[in-house]
Parts: sequence; C-alpha cells; structure tokens
Amino acid sequence: MWNSCFLPEMLATRRIKAATRKIVNAMAHAQKHGINITALGGFSSIIFENFNLSQIGQVRNVKLEFDRFTTGNTHTAYIICRQVEQASKQLGIDLSKATIAVCGATGDIGSAVCRWLDARTNAAELLLIARNPERLHDLQTELGRGKIMDLEEALPQADIVVWVASMPKGVEIDTTTLKHPCLMIDGGYPKNLGTKVKHPDVHVLNGGIVEHSLDIDWRIMSIVNMDVPARQLFACFAESMLLEFEKLYTNFSWGRNQITLEKMDLIGQVSVKHGFRPLLLPA
Ligand code: NDP
Repeated sequence: MWNSCFLPEMLATRRIKAATRKIVNAMAHAQKHGINITALGGFSSIIFENFNLSQIGQVRNVKLEFDRFTTGNTHTAYIICRQVEQASKQLGIDLSKATIAVCGATGDIGSAVCRWLDARTNAAELLLIARNPERLHDLQTELGRGKIMDLEEALPQADIVVWVASMPKGVEIDTTTLKHPCLMIDGGYPKNLGTKVKHPDVHVLNGGIVEHSLDIDWRIMSIVNMDVPARQLFACFAESMLLEFEKLYTNFSWGRNQITLEKMDLIGQVSVKHGFRPLLLPA
C-alpha cells in the first residue's frame, strides 16, 4: 500500500503540467517498487480522469499497469453514506422526513452517494446540485427521482447537505438561512465549506474519513490536520489498505460514475471486518 499526495492548488494555472507529471511519476515509482495496490486519492484521481492520463501508458522504462491502482472512491462513497445514516440519528433527524442535498451529485462519489441514498435509505427528498445540466438530467433519469437545484435555492430546504464537489476554493455560507438542526457532511478535499460554520444547530462533519480501532504508526495524517492522526484517515487511503488485506489485487474503483451498490456493499463489509468505522459527530 502506498499513496500519492498532490496539492489541489496545482490545478490552477499552468502548474497542471507539473501536477500530471507528479501523478504519473508517483504511479511509476509505486509500481517499480512492487506495490500491489496504490490509491490515487482525491485530486490525483480527478486529474487522472479529467486529463485522460490513462493514455500515458509508459513512464520512462515503466509500462503502467492500471490494475495496480484505485481511486478509493467506492469506500469514500460508502463511508459518506454511513455518515449520513449514523450522524443524522445522532442529531435526531428522521431520514424518512429529511431532505438531503448533494452538492457534486453528478461526480464519481456524488452519483454513488445518490444511488445509495435512493436505494438503501428512506430519505424523503434528494436535491441534486452541480453545474452541468445535462449530467444532472441524466442522473435524475437514472434515479427516477431528485430535484435539480441551485445551491442557493437548495440550502435553506436541506436537513442534510453532502458536499462532494471538487472545488479548489470553498463556499461561504450564511448559517441563518439554514434549517436547524442541519447536518453538513463535508467530503471534499480541500474542504468545500470555506469558513468554519459557527452555529450551535449547524453540525459540520468531516466526510469520507474513517477511524481505525487501533493506532497506526505513521505521521502523514498530522500533515493534513486530522484530529486523531494515528487513527483517522481518508477513506480512499483505507480502500487501498483493504484491497491489500483482502488480496483483492484489482483496480476496484476506476473510471467515472461506475460505482455500484454491490461494490459499496463489498468494500463496506471488509471495512467493518478490518476495524474501520465512519467518523461521527462528537458525543
Ligand atoms: P468529480 O470530479 O467526479 O465530481 C465533482 C462533482 O462536483 C461533479 O458533480 C461536478 O459537476 C461538481 N462540481 C464541481 N464544481 C462545482 C461547483 N462549483 N458547484 C457545484 N458543483 C460543482 O470528483 P470526485 O467525485 O472524484 O471527488 C469529489 C470530492 O471528494 C473532491 O473534493 C475530492 O477531493 C474528494 N475526495 C475525498 C476522498 C476521501 O477519502 N475523503 C477521496 C476521494 C475524493 P459540475 O462540473 O457539472 O459542476
């Protein structure tokens, strides 16, 4: 297991070339060292897809074998869905009466979250938010439900907001316009919420984060300011660990918008088996 790190700021301007080079070099490096499964993680996988890096089959003397890599998005989507289910209970929000807004609904993680919320929960209403109208209509058709809405229109109606938009810069929110209580699950990296939300009835939970039952002897999670760096980590990182533990040597999460409920179930089962649980609100 090995993870490539990448700074989202590099998406802006001409530094994208440096970013893509960094990603394929990291992939070649991991492969050369015989690592079976590497998670590309958040922005690396977004860049990989958006800039068609699968066309780069060769990095110097290394022919990239894509089945050694995963985006980690299936586990991330599964964990975010479990966070919706469990943290809503913590706040006494009844899903059967709740309106859930998904910002980034048409993305790889967002579309999987919408599929799960539709099929596996009795959530009353789904609000679908993104910029591209065609993709939104396709998702709405696939789900057979969901209201397409602007963020400004959706926020005051939502009991729960799932943030999974790939935004380099976060959104500022006027908490007085929100429902109280309101659960905000911020799964974006960097975080989609621009400022710390300070309202006693608006509860922000770091999305797509798991806690392990035992301490892990590493320092990487201090760099990204996890509250408990020895135990908390990105669900996408954890996906590569799970695939290694289970000897599932395959690009489990790959491509865009192909995450199925069956795959979420499978990665969910092994996540529980190996001692991971979704991060929840403080008791
Ligand atoms: P995608 O690029 O597949 O999807 C992004 C979604 O956000 C699309 O629906 C896109 O639609 C929408 N979007 C982008 N900008 C905006 C905007 N300004 N307003 C509204 N919608 C917007 O990304 P992924 O699904 O792969 O990743 C989503 C997020 O999750 C990223 O921030 C990523 O870093 C994070 N992540 C976290 C992980 C973890 O372990 N916690 C692991 C992997 C990813 P449109 O372009 O039409 O607006």
